Amino acid sequence: MVPLLTVERGVIGIAGFVLLLLAEAVWPFKRPVDSRWRRYLINGFIIGSNSLLLTILLGALIVSFYRVLELHRMGLLHWLGLEGWPNAFLSIALLDGATYAWHRAYHTHPLMWRMHRVHHSDLDLDVTSSGRFHLTEMLLSAVFRLGIIALWGANVASVVLFEIVFGLLNQVQHSNLRIPEPLETWLRSVFVTPDMHRIHHSQVVAETNSNYSTIFSWWDRLFRTYQFGQDQRALVLGLPEYPRRKDVTFSRVMAMPFGAPCGGL
Ligand SMILES: [Zn+2]
Repeated sequence: MVPLLTVERGVIGIAGFVLLLLAEAVWPFKRPVDSRWRRYLINGFIIGSNSLLLTILLGALIVSFYRVLELHRMGLLHWLGLEGWPNAFLSIALLDGATYAWHRAYHTHPLMWRMHRVHHSDLDLDVTSSGRFHLTEMLLSAVFRLGIIALWGANVASVVLFEIVFGLLNQVQHSNLRIPEPLETWLRSVFVTPDMHRIHHSQVVAETNSNYSTIFSWWDRLFRTYQFGQDQRALVLGLPEYPRRKDVTFSRVMAMPFGAPCGGL
């Protein structure tokens, strides 16, 4: 079951990516400030190389981990006897909440921010930004997530369902998609929308340090990090330390975790 589910997850992820790429072209929110094709190349190379390296470095570990989860049924939910849909709903909510806290930690701890600023250095947002993460951040986040899954007691189907929903919402929230009212407001009452997440990518530090959620917008509302109401057209995206195209070339982006510290905390 495990290999089949991971293949399905990959197919759904690629389908979501392509559909959003097309939707952005038909209903764009704003014109890009950077060269679209230059960013496509950089973000596309990061996504491709990360997928390959993560499969090589962690693929066998993750499949083995899923098998151990299936065999031993460890963790809180299994001890409470919660399987099936209750396990899936509770696991999606808990893993999304844990990711909120983990994302917030990337903005709080200087060493973690060094990795995460690669993601925030993008001068525009579109679906390709959803995979613009430094390999070091991807590895660290994967280890964190496996630990939470084991402690929480999510079963394999719940984890794969979470990853499918998480992956799709991550793509949607980064997309340059114009969602009309009142649909945007209605969706944002439950889920994170592109308008909400765009504020998190603002160059204004107080706005960067808000709206950390990925699936459910309620985490930011609950922990008072929710912001909305800014003039979306006036938002300047990226980091003040890297405001020009020449600051965010591929080699400079890849060196960011190891370069001089910068603001944003
Ligand atoms: Zn962030």
